[in-house]
This record gives sequence, structure tokens and C-alpha cells, in this order.
Amino acid sequence: MSDVMVDVRAVHKSFGQSEVLRGVHLQVRAGEVTVVIGPSGSGKSTLLRTINHLEKVDRGHISIDGELLGYRRSGRRLHELKERDILRQRTRIGFVFQNFNLFPHLTALDNVSEAPVSAQGRPRREAVELAARLLDRVGLADRKDSYPRQLSGGQQQRVAIARALALRPKLVLFDEPTSALDPELVDEVLDVIRGLARDGTTMIVVTHEIGLAREIADNVVFLDAGRIVEQGPPDQVLDHPAHERTRSFLSRVL
Ligand code: ADP
Ligand code: MG
Repeated sequence: MSDVMVDVRAVHKSFGQSEVLRGVHLQVRAGEVTVVIGPSGSGKSTLLRTINHLEKVDRGHISIDGELLGYRRSGRRLHELKERDILRQRTRIGFVFQNFNLFPHLTALDNVSEAPVSAQGRPRREAVELAARLLDRVGLADRKDSYPRQLSGGQQQRVAIARALALRPKLVLFDEPTSALDPELVDEVLDVIRGLARDGTTMIVVTHEIGLAREIADNVVFLDAGRIVEQGPPDQVLDHPAHERTRSFLSRVL
């Protein structure tokens, strides 16, 4: 099973009294695109954050590329990672947020080259060359010296994608990457994501862009109230959903 990049097993996560993930099982194979859809509050962001170890799971476990990230709290502890291991693993997972989260005081080039130097210890010159190549790949070669405030939302999000790729991630997580954008800027970001899918990047994309799901997803996952209600290829889940809750969600977003 060496081609399983992400293996989420029976993951539970609560905040106070509210159980936000209620036994989630999900596998993502290397080179595959998983698109997660579901209503607001269903636990989509929490699922991504547990995969990236920004949140600890309460029960169940998560492994990335065969390495265990989570641990069981009830019952026998399987494995608890040291903070250093968590940080090392996290640097191999790219995360693209809804609100870009660029460093406002750094240029586009410095935003992209910062983490390879500070988190991976790569030589600055090498990181700068890589950053320039990545900005070219997202169509921003001519904006490398711009600061975030001088860029449109679509351009900022493309810088954020280049920044995520600079860590040479095994896996890239996208949390509603186009939700904060004006409608006319959505497509330039979707184009970059489509390109990554074509290049075989392993990704989990949370989005309400059903058209994107249809185009790039190997697996569409419908999450509702902390559980995966159904998952499968786009033509199955989006066109012939088996569950009433999936049908009613799709009728609201389409
Ligand atoms: P989605 O991304 O699908 O909209 P989230 O994973 O953000 O859903 O949130 C699921 C539920 O968990 C929501 O009710 C939210 O308010 C709650 N929640 C998320 N993060 C926290 C947190 N850090 N503390 C308390 N509650 C949280
Ligand atoms: Mg969310």
C-alpha cells in the first residue's frame, strides 16, 4: 500500500462539547486529487487541519506517506510524535488558506523563498532561484518584487500557492482557495490548481466550485456534520448521489 499518501482512520475531534469530526475514514493515493465538499460547519477545515497536525485528533490516527501523525488517546497509545518530528512532517505538506495569509512586509519572492530557508535550511540562493521559477509557474514572474498589498486577491493567492510548492511538498491542502476572491479573479487561481492536478500533484481541495471537482477530482468526498456521507468518482457523487443529504446539498450549491 505504498502509494497511499494520506490515511485517515476513525478520526474523532471535539471542541468542548461539540464533536466536529465523528469517525472519519479517508485515503488519498499518491498523485490523486481529492475534493471535499459539504455545508459550512461540517468539519472540512478541521479535517485539513488535523491532516496538517495543526489540530491534534482525540481518537483515531492519521498517517502521511506511511508515517503516523496522530495517536490514540483512549486505549493504548500507539505513537506520539515529538514536536520536532511534527514540524519536519508539516514542512512536507503545503497548505493554501482561504485568505492567502502572506507576510505583508515581504515581497512575493521573499514570501515564497522564506520557508525553504527557515524551515528546511536550504541555501538562500537556491531558495531564491526556486521561488523565481515557482512565481513564473503561477504566471507572476513580473511581480516578484511586489508586496501583497500591491497585488490583487487572485495574484496573492497565486503567490500563496507558489509558497506552498516551495517546500517541495508530498501533499498540498487547499482550504476554499477561491472563496475570498471577487468572481472575476477565481479562474486565474483555478487555472493554477488545474495545472497542478495535470502534473500529478497529490492534493486535497476543499471547495464549493463543483465544476472544478468535476474536472480534477479522482475522488469527491461529501462531508456532513463530521461524517463522510459518501465518496467516489465525480460522476457518481455529483451526478448520481446515493444519499438524500448529498442531493440536497448539491441542489443548494449548483
Ligand atoms: P467547515 O470548514 O466545514 O465550515 P470547520 O471545520 O471550520 O467547518 O468547523 C466545524 C465546527 O467546529 C464549527 O461548528 C466550528 O465553529 C467549530 N470549530 C472549528 N474550529 C474550532 C476551534 N478552534 N474552537 C472551537 N470550535 C471550533
Ligand atoms: Mg472551512
